Amino acid sequence: MKTEQLKYETTLSFANEMDLRDPLKGFSDRFYIPKKENGEPGIYFCGNSLGLQPKSAREYIEQEMKTWKTLAVGGHFNGKHPWMHYHELLTVPLATLVGARPSEVVAMNTLTVNIHLAMVSFYRPTAKRNKIVIESGAFPSDQYAVASQALFHGFDPKTTIIELKPRPGENVIRTEDIEELIDREWESIALILLGGINYYTGQAFDMKRITESGQSKGCVVGFDLAHAVGNILLLLHDWNVDFAVWCNYKYLNAGPGSVGGFFVHERHSENFDLPRFAGWWGNDKETRFLMRSEFKPSEGAAGWQHSTASPFQLAALRASLEIFEEAGIGALRDKSKKLTGYLEYLLDNLDGNRISIVTPRDEQQRGCQLSLRIKNDGKNLFKEITSKGVVVDWREPDVIRVAPVPLYNTFNDVFSFIEILRKVLQN
Ligand SMILES: *Cc1c(COP(=O)(O)O)cnc(C)c1O
Repeated sequence: MKTEQLKYETTLSFANEMDLRDPLKGFSDRFYIPKKENGEPGIYFCGNSLGLQPKSAREYIEQEMKTWKTLAVGGHFNGKHPWMHYHELLTVPLATLVGARPSEVVAMNTLTVNIHLAMVSFYRPTAKRNKIVIESGAFPSDQYAVASQALFHGFDPKTTIIELKPRPGENVIRTEDIEELIDREWESIALILLGGINYYTGQAFDMKRITESGQSKGCVVGFDLAHAVGNILLLLHDWNVDFAVWCNYKYLNAGPGSVGGFFVHERHSENFDLPRFAGWWGNDKETRFLMRSEFKPSEGAAGWQHSTASPFQLAALRASLEIFEEAGIGALRDKSKKLTGYLEYLLDNLDGNRISIVTPRDEQQRGCQLSLRIKNDGKNLFKEITSKGVVVDWREPDVIRVAPVPLYNTFNDVFSFIEILRKVLQN
């Protein structure tokens, strides 16, 4: 189902024309794009793994270095952007990207830590109802987190975790199969925790339908949005998702290991009876510095914070989110569909049958990434295109992930990538 019937062509002039007409064409200049060894601009298709550095990030971080240098402890309250409130500069732009109310999101910790903390509140297993549904081939950190949570509660991960699998011969999981599993097993399911987009196949799950069908049977439903945030349109509040977590260094360009994201639906965020692990940064701001012994959580997702936030990490994220606000996630998604559709079209027009696309063909069921399954020594093919200045990644046993990012990639990048691929395949 295409939103717009765009007729692609295989020529370079078509790619150039698309770039010329691209309403977002100026945005690539806002990022540092790594060069090839010969100094030419490289082709960077790894924004799904680590987003590029916004040129403004340095200035934003240096501002906080300056505050630290000149005001030291005074920076908490008297800096240009007082550190005490710095994370609040990010709530509106983050909420916009995930389709939440500002009070439902907070930037804190890192992704895997946030999975654990969310599970403290939202995985409340009982003797009868303790199972966790995840997708097969979930990101390893998610698998470890979920298994260790099951163990922590005294359950055997082998029998407690249900993995959703594609049907034999298929690459991705059908929504109707997820619904069927929920209908069949709901009495034992405590939590459904899926990636919004699977990191390996690039499949975008139908979060609205899955949330509805899980919750209609009393299951808690959460998502790991590492590959979805800043990539596809999200409406967490309206979909009634219970909680979500993500990292901000992939499509959101906040830099390696930067601060993560956390969403709690407002239905829960004012439920102070929900168990949570507490820390002073989650305490109500009005009384935080009174240093009382009794914990009084802030309202909203902010009440799940623990420690003093690092302004350096938040500053880098702020630099990137300002660019997202300017570009608009709607416009980015529109371009993304065309850019990835163009990649798909050119791949389909390549000779030979060594490459097949694992990611769904339906643009509603994917973001910008296409995962390519390569027959016959794909690793070698990967090495050859890499040596020609294409940055993509290899995922065992046979997949190359290619992510044209609408913020800084061009139709010309896609065209050049295909030309390189064609030459390597011919050899
Ligand atoms: C990238 C990614 C992670 C990485 O987690 P960190 O805690 O940020 O290292 C975890 N889960 C998924 C689904 C990811 O895509």
